[in-house]
Amino acid sequence: MTDARLRAEVADYARRLHARGWVANHDGNVSVRLGEGRFLATPTATSKAEVTADQLLVVDESGARVQGSAKPFGEIGLHLTIYRHRSDVQAVVHAHSPTASGFASAGLALERPAMAEAVVSLGPTVPLVPYAPAGDAACRALEPFLASCDAVLVSGNGVFAWGTTLEQAYLRLELVEHLARIALVAQQLGGLRGLPDNALPPLLEARRKAGLGQAASATAADPPAPRAVVACAPPPPGSDVVLATRPRKSDLAAMILEEIQAALKKT
Ligand SMILES: [Zn+2]
Repeated sequence: MTDARLRAEVADYARRLHARGWVANHDGNVSVRLGEGRFLATPTATSKAEVTADQLLVVDESGARVQGSAKPFGEIGLHLTIYRHRSDVQAVVHAHSPTASGFASAGLALERPAMAEAVVSLGPTVPLVPYAPAGDAACRALEPFLASCDAVLVSGNGVFAWGTTLEQAYLRLELVEHLARIALVAQQLGGLRGLPDNALPPLLEARRKAGLGQAASATAADPPAPRAVVACAPPPPGSDVVLATRPRKSDLAAMILEEIQAALKKT
């Protein structure tokens, strides 16, 4: 893609973030990898409704501006952390889409896989990155999730999604917001009933076959166990809705089996 076309595409996706109602004020940012340690990025302190191709700037791997007159946005370090850990990633999109960001603000991940197609597209969960102050600490908090995830909620912030193309990164962010809305509606209707455990292996296999998901080939550390849950209120009496913080039946069975095996070893 020519530089002019790429710039036009980045500006277009930045404006879409505003048009969809996923950012306000100067929120949100978009970047793409140019190669040779250079990245094209949206300018700081600019409404995403107003971004034009000629306002974009180029930064190096340290986040320093090497081209353009605007300043880089403050969250460029998070984008660069993603690029550093994921050589396959060509674009990163960040927004404060209201429902998904609401989950992050409530300390809730999209932890329970509830939609089959979303599992193929994004994996079984969209985790919540714990809050950390902006800068190096925020980058370190994000790092453990990068190997196995293509989108995250960030506590006190919003959604980050990345992909092998700008379109893919944008669509992943769109899907996270959509899943959050579905989870919220399900909660209002009595609780989110996740997919059955035996639904996951074929969906994850389909994900692998589609060449999606970095988890299989990633070398970075596994992400920490998700700390928050989708189900945010106790299940109604008699309901089979289970809070995700409780061990599920299969987890419970595995734990009991481990206990029995450990006890047998001791005897
Ligand atoms: Zn933000």
